[in-house]
Amino acid sequence: MHKGIGVSPGIVVGVAHRVESVLGSLEQQSLANPSEIPAEIERFDQAVAESAAELDSFVQKVAQELGSSAAEIFRGHAQMVNDPSLQAQVHSLIEDQHLTALSALQVVMHGYAAVFARLQQDLFRERMTDIRDVILRIESHLVRKVVTPIEEAAGATRNGGESVILVAHEILPSQAMSLGDLPIAGIVTELGGSTSHAAILARSRGIPAVSGVEGIMSEVQSGDMMIVDGRDGMVLVRPDQEAMSAYRKVQREFFNLKDRLIANRDLPAKSADGAHVELLANINNLADAHAAQKVGAAGVGLFRTEYLFLTHHDVPDEEEQYEFYRQILLNSPNQTVTIRTLDLGGDKTVPYLGRRGEPNPFMGWRSTRIFLENSKLFVTQVRAILRAGRHGKVAMLFPMITTLEELLFVNNLVKETRGNLRREGVAFGEDVKTGVMVEVPAAAVCIDAILRETDFISIGSNDLIQYLVAADRDNPKVAQLCEPLSPAIFRVLRNVFDACQRTGTPVTLCGEMAGQPRPVLVLFGLGLRRFSMSPGFIPTIKALLSSVTTAQAERFAHHVLQLNTSEEIRSYLTARMHEISSSLEMFDTP
Ligand code: PEP
Ligand code: MG
Repeated sequence: MHKGIGVSPGIVVGVAHRVESVLGSLEQQSLANPSEIPAEIERFDQAVAESAAELDSFVQKVAQELGSSAAEIFRGHAQMVNDPSLQAQVHSLIEDQHLTALSALQVVMHGYAAVFARLQQDLFRERMTDIRDVILRIESHLVRKVVTPIEEAAGATRNGGESVILVAHEILPSQAMSLGDLPIAGIVTELGGSTSHAAILARSRGIPAVSGVEGIMSEVQSGDMMIVDGRDGMVLVRPDQEAMSAYRKVQREFFNLKDRLIANRDLPAKSADGAHVELLANINNLADAHAAQKVGAAGVGLFRTEYLFLTHHDVPDEEEQYEFYRQILLNSPNQTVTIRTLDLGGDKTVPYLGRRGEPNPFMGWRSTRIFLENSKLFVTQVRAILRAGRHGKVAMLFPMITTLEELLFVNNLVKETRGNLRREGVAFGEDVKTGVMVEVPAAAVCIDAILRETDFISIGSNDLIQYLVAADRDNPKVAQLCEPLSPAIFRVLRNVFDACQRTGTPVTLCGEMAGQPRPVLVLFGLGLRRFSMSPGFIPTIKALLSSVTTAQAERFAHHVLQLNTSEEIRSYLTARMHEISSSLEMFDTP
């Protein structure tokens, strides 16, 4: 049995499929016949030439969009691709050992990795990212189609029939994207905390997931049976028959309850005494927008646009963005869609931003901070959002606002952009509201000043918590500090809610705690009425709130604010939860 962090609730019994990292132990493949050597070398050279051309156009485009220093990283990649010694090494492995171009490339890259491993730690990590990027690029030209390891795993499901559980050191955000509608039944990773983007995507798909399971990759082989319990972060490898049948029974109960809850889709969202709440969806793409409709979400409280960028090798232009946003709006009929401007950085990196060598990426050059230097990318996105505003109800949300100066700066850019669109005669939505994500403690503390300059706010509790407790939400060693049931977070939230109430400013909470039963009881008791969460949680939260009265929840919140430790808060709320609805406890994380 292995213990990690339960990051997406649910139980699954299934068969393991390992996702090897790019530099994983790929089996070497040889050419069937030496006569294939010249053609194989030709194929490799062609892939290199295509990669180099692609990188050259990137350098141009990124330099134009983001400035010359941002293009630096691609210049480095282009140099690596064009490196004559790389090419000579691959050629000689094909010629002398008759390896395929793909295997030869892997061997050479493993050699580089070994050299870099002897270099200083941070630099090594940075260089490894570049190496992985360069390999992926040449590989994608070699095989001419990018079949991700995740797609491969989905193929295994289709062929085998047994549920597939992905086991990986780490699922990169762009890989997590390709989870899409693939039939993956569970996820176990060595890295990552409960608010890592891979975890968030697992939740939005309702896939049970456990992360922070140290050493799991050396324990599990593809094909092993496994049990994943996403409620308490437990993973069983090669369980005995008894455990399997016991867990299969719980798995059935879990899914039955889930199916029953889906039936509340068309019921109004309100508490037992009739107080209305808005249950909104956090989405990343069209599949999520469909999922939101399926569970009866009242709108989109958070549309994380970075996933469009993460899945692109290149900067998506205004037209492409406009079309993407328009599609989301068309698929969320008559509902407000809150589009968040780019929130890259932290665990979401794209190569074209040229960010490198930051010792603390979560404390660094991320999100809106990037645009203070490079407003072009921001303005392009704002244009696309404003234009999409013609096709439905759109709100625009700015992440990671820390100071009033930053807010005034972005507000001014939006104002200028509206003016420019008007002058150019380009149609756009005139009534697009703008809002601030409150997720940096400085903004929460100075909330009164922020509220004077914004139409609405949305609390990003994932980041707010990690910055409040100074603990990286994706680092399993300290992730337990990122606890929503904490005295500090509830005190900060109470102040923010009170300020919003005084000024009549609409407030939503869109962090993960909006979909977790025990924290929701307190949030509702503190007066919050707009909750935005992964679509999969909406039926549970609707059922929960319908079983509690406003007075009850206010009493819980009042009591919680008197408590001084997370432990006390947790045990108090666990008892209340048990009284209100013992069946919904299944959907809670510990
Ligand atoms: C948050 O920080 O709570 C949030 C919703 O944003 P993200 O998780 O995308 O950083
Ligand atoms: Mg955030």
